[in-house]
Amino acid sequence: MRAFRAVGGTPRFMVSGAGPYLTDADGREYVDLVCSWGPMILGHSHPEVIAAVQEAVSRGTSFGTPGEGEVALAEEIVARIEPVEQVRLVSSGTEATMSAIRLARGFTGRAKVVKFAGCYHGHVDALLAAAGSGLATFGLPDTPGVTGATAGDTVVLPYNDLDAVRAAFAAHPGEIACVITEASPGNMGVVPPADGFNAGLKELCAADGALYISDEVMTGFRTSKAGWYGIDGVRPDLMTFGKVMGGGFPAAAFGGRADVMAHLAPAGPVYQAGTLSGNPVATAAGLAQLRLLDDAAYAKIDAVSAELRSLVGDALTKEGVAHTVSSASNMFSVFFTDRPVRDYEDAKQQEAFRFTAFFHSMLEQGVYLPPSAFESWFVSTAHDERAVERIAAALPAAARAASEATA
Ligand code: PLP
Repeated sequence: MRAFRAVGGTPRFMVSGAGPYLTDADGREYVDLVCSWGPMILGHSHPEVIAAVQEAVSRGTSFGTPGEGEVALAEEIVARIEPVEQVRLVSSGTEATMSAIRLARGFTGRAKVVKFAGCYHGHVDALLAAAGSGLATFGLPDTPGVTGATAGDTVVLPYNDLDAVRAAFAAHPGEIACVITEASPGNMGVVPPADGFNAGLKELCAADGALYISDEVMTGFRTSKAGWYGIDGVRPDLMTFGKVMGGGFPAAAFGGRADVMAHLAPAGPVYQAGTLSGNPVATAAGLAQLRLLDDAAYAKIDAVSAELRSLVGDALTKEGVAHTVSSASNMFSVFFTDRPVRDYEDAKQQEAFRFTAFFHSMLEQGVYLPPSAFESWFVSTAHDERAVERIAAALPAAARAASEATA
């Protein structure tokens, strides 16, 4: 994604970030709508996060022992997200989902994992079947290096299709360890769950004795104080987190039901470990960021997101460009089609070449969008009126470029 393969052109090499802005190696400034793919929810170089990091670094960078920072961060997560009775810290979202499915398999004694086409859960071998994100961008159906045996226990279903899930449970009774889903997908563009979809997944899992894993690596601590769970209230058996909870450092987590987590080493037999897990600098950054994310912060992010969605939609409408601005709380993306997008197949029907023209026009005018039509746009509390005005000023020309683009 960073290589701009989906949109062509030369990637920008960034050297610094401040608030809603990034500055590249040639000294050009951009309004940043990527926010490091989600983590920088307070903007870049937030003084309180930087101070917490500097204070932590001054005491050492890794101890390989239990520490206060990891306990404080774990407590903050448990306090915010009620279904998380116990939590384990790791270093990346990939590790979180990989460990959660291992735990689900260890707990249930079953092999199969159900995932949805277009949902990305990191580069876990078994989950790289029909994944979104970079794979959606490059149109790769799969990746070399993952053996048939590894992917063979993965059942890939269309998103938002409960009948398909019902059929999978009927075809494999007592064999499915878990269903893993993005709480609200952002890796095929933003495609929110249809009403009752997550609740239906939970119900079908419970009826068969499988675990329902909600991947909140992207939505967690972003879409609300308690992530997507704070919005739909569907109680997962296990959840995964990353991005925002690390404050721009490598920190991630998985957690959930205490009786399931009890199977995790050292209390239980399912192995999991990491040299840098609970790293004192990463946990200090994450904790500082989470503590600043109060109701007022989410209200601000939601308002900026709503304003941008309406500005983008108006600009495209004015130029007669078929589009859908799709949102889930403050996450949003633009599909260059006016047909409804409910799953990955729908998302792929869009005229992505129009996004390419739109993207490059915005970039030239100093607005950094995700370099792919299949990614969420992210805003932060630092996106103030001046930043929004700069985006608004760039939109008419970008919308025109999209309208004039040819496949
Ligand atoms: N799960 C989701 C929903 C994600 O969006 C991502 C990354 O974009 C991951 C897991 C993997 O996280 P990481 O890139 O930290 O390994």
